[in-house]
Amino acid sequence: MNSFEVVFLGTGTSQGVPVIGCNCDVCTSTNPKDKRLRTSALIKIKDQTFVIDTGPDFRQQMLREDVQNLDAVLFTHEHKDHIAGLDDIRAFNFKSKMDMPVYLSDRVLIGLKKEFHYIFSEYTYPGIPKIQLNLIDKVPFNVNGINIQPIEVMHYQLPVTAFRIGDFAYITDANFVSEKEMEKLVGVKFLVINALRQEQHISHFNLAEALAFIDRIKPNKAYLTHISHLMGQHDEINSTLPSNVSIAHDGLKISVH
Ligand SMILES: [Zn+2]
Ligand SMILES: [Zn+2]
Ligand SMILES: [Zn+2]
Repeated sequence: MNSFEVVFLGTGTSQGVPVIGCNCDVCTSTNPKDKRLRTSALIKIKDQTFVIDTGPDFRQQMLREDVQNLDAVLFTHEHKDHIAGLDDIRAFNFKSKMDMPVYLSDRVLIGLKKEFHYIFSEYTYPGIPKIQLNLIDKVPFNVNGINIQPIEVMHYQLPVTAFRIGDFAYITDANFVSEKEMEKLVGVKFLVINALRQEQHISHFNLAEALAFIDRIKPNKAYLTHISHLMGQHDEINSTLPSNVSIAHDGLKISVH
């Protein structure tokens, strides 16, 4: 596969960083790398542009990265911090005059039908988001010639979809991967993995667990995402990490090759 680009649109946990009303040293940091929108990523591959999740900051992220065209949305799970921005795909509907292809599990579809009932209603209004549904499970699927391997990871009790494209894998919101699904990560060179904070958490890897997971996969390079203000300041934590691991920050672009 040719090289492609991944842009970290957001790298923060569900509240973002800074947290409203918080005066901790991370939330008051003047380092731009300590400002985190909700977690999402843009994949630019061949002539295609995909987004993984449409969180509450989707509009701002599309404007910041000057995204002119979007070919598909891949959803990881139905939590609000990963779907809340779906309404803003209207801009791409209007521009392309096409329904937006979305790739999602049947569980995520049930979530979208509750959160965005008006998109699915029998009598729809002009100006609502137009989506074209593509159900996925655990087997590879193809989006306009790009082969994508879904991987089921566990976010406590909730199955979440991770994605592998070539030698790149993106795992948000999870703290367990079964041995069977781990096989799909063999040979990954670039790994994105969630690491919420230092302390343990019921549904996310903490820093130590994420580092142990990375050590099993042994990618050339790993990036931590879905970061809470409780993790600490970017530069401080980053300086303690193994040489093949970095904390991602908003706007970071990596070339996968
Ligand atoms: Zn999340
Ligand atoms: Zn704080
Ligand atoms: Zn979640």
